[in-house]
Amino acid sequence: MAEKENIIIESGDRDQPFKYAIGMYGSMFFRELRDRRVFVGVKCPRCKKVYIPPRRVCGDCYEEMKEFVEVGPGGNIGTFTILRYAFIDPETGEQKPVPYGYGFIQLDGADTFFQHYIEIKDEKKVRIGARVEPVFSEERKGTIKDILYFKIVE
Ligand SMILES: [Zn+2]
Repeated sequence: MAEKENIIIESGDRDQPFKYAIGMYGSMFFRELRDRRVFVGVKCPRCKKVYIPPRRVCGDCYEEMKEFVEVGPGGNIGTFTILRYAFIDPETGEQKPVPYGYGFIQLDGADTFFQHYIEIKDEKKVRIGARVEPVFSEERKGTIKDILYFKIVE
């Protein structure tokens, strides 16, 4: 059996700049996360469903939504997975360290789930319904990485 070897094929020095506007609601969401460490959702005027992250139109009743509400920062795990299979992370080009947890979190006051990493320091505590809180990055830039992960709290 051959030794494990990572073969890297380089395509030269071509840059692929990838920028896009995230819109008014997305900008507000990431600005509040960056500046105040606050999760902003939006509430439907008809069915009262609270979406996180905020979106312009309710997916259930097609109402335009303009009422912004703070949700979280705590919540509960709705579902999760623990990834153990190593793969090349497209964001870094490096092998993603495994294992790591990823899940759908229902922040307090929200009706939808927010997807992010979940700390798995003690795997026995990672379960559906477990209480979690976000751990923020010290230097926040207005991206999803401003949240490092959600940690399990007792
Ligand atoms: Zn609605």
